Amino acid sequence: MSTILVTGGAGFLGSHLCDRLIARGDEVICLDNFFTGRKENIAHLIGHPRFELVRHDIVEPILLEVEQVYNLACPASPKAYQYNPIKTIKTSTVGMVNVLGLAKRCRARILQASTSEVYGDPNVHPQREDYWGHVNPIGPRSCYDEGKRVAETLCMNYHQANGVEVRIIRIFNTYGPRMDPDDGRVISNFIMQALRGEQLTVFGDGRQTRSFCFVSDLIEGMMRMMDQDAEVGPVNIGNPNEFTMLELAEEVLELTGSKSTLKHEPLPGDDPKQRCPDIGKAKRLLDWTPKINLHEGLQKTIAYYRGVVEGTAK
Ligand code: NAD
Ligand code: UDP
Repeated sequence: MSTILVTGGAGFLGSHLCDRLIARGDEVICLDNFFTGRKENIAHLIGHPRFELVRHDIVEPILLEVEQVYNLACPASPKAYQYNPIKTIKTSTVGMVNVLGLAKRCRARILQASTSEVYGDPNVHPQREDYWGHVNPIGPRSCYDEGKRVAETLCMNYHQANGVEVRIIRIFNTYGPRMDPDDGRVISNFIMQALRGEQLTVFGDGRQTRSFCFVSDLIEGMMRMMDQDAEVGPVNIGNPNEFTMLELAEEVLELTGSKSTLKHEPLPGDDPKQRCPDIGKAKRLLDWTPKINLHEGLQKTIAYYRGVVEGTAK
């Protein structure tokens, strides 16, 4: 049993990670400022003898004694991270320094939840870890993309200069139950629109691609990365099955049985045209591949959002 800090633990991915760690028998400290996180996500863990909730913002230092840190604190949807871009970049820079400082003081291993956004609008496809990316440093996504790039740099600097045990994963689009229905990401938007009988908002011509990973696969890869001793990373974690947004819309309509139609809206600035992970490194290092395909993952996610619409979601 280890004592493990999960920053951003009340968010979508963080709450699933807390569940897995508690189930494994660990002591979990869930830290969150509740910017995009929700108490409902972790309500079932409150009162558990090995679970503790701390309301805190990582932009401020904090003293805790732990053996591992998963740093997930950072808004992830474009709508949320663009709401206050200066706060977003502070979270990935000042916040990252604070969390790395904590790991250094405790001699804890720290895993950083980085992102496929470090590749920007990629001109290498699929994206491998040795690709340096194509990021606009002053565009609408830069507070997030550049923040996460600096966060990776800080992790490597603390590792090389101070011997902090660092692990870096680059997460590609992940979806599943507990994803905030209003966070503006494409899967939550399409499903909620389909269930409410509204038009599905396809941005641009809908031919841009993404590769969607179901949350349970992602958490498995994340924990395997933390618990191996061979590599700092970065390692891509994502599902390499690539779909256009038009294909995704059709799949959502079919699985929900919705009669909704599609409505095209302008493509947001700097929206990447394609994204797909090369997961060769994760396969070799972690013996990891995603198990849940889009069809199955969407069915589970639709069931959750039906509960949200009917007010019975857990
Ligand atoms: P989320 O928005 O649901 O979770 C982020 C959590 O961090 C929230 O609970 C939020 O309240 C908290 N938070 C934000 N700023 C904070 C701060 N300054 N101090 C303390 N807590 C703070 O998003 P998610 O999808 O669960 O993403 C989790 C992590 O994974 C993020 O770091 C994100 O960048 C990364 N990631 C996610 C995806 C994805 O597709 N879900 C893809 C790439 C990377
Ligand atoms: N998108 C869309 N309709 C929506 C929301 C998003 O067509 O209602 C598109 C968006 O332009 C992008 C893709 O879906 O090309 C994925 O968007 P999301 O915000 O989920 O993630 P990210 O762009 O960060 O990968």
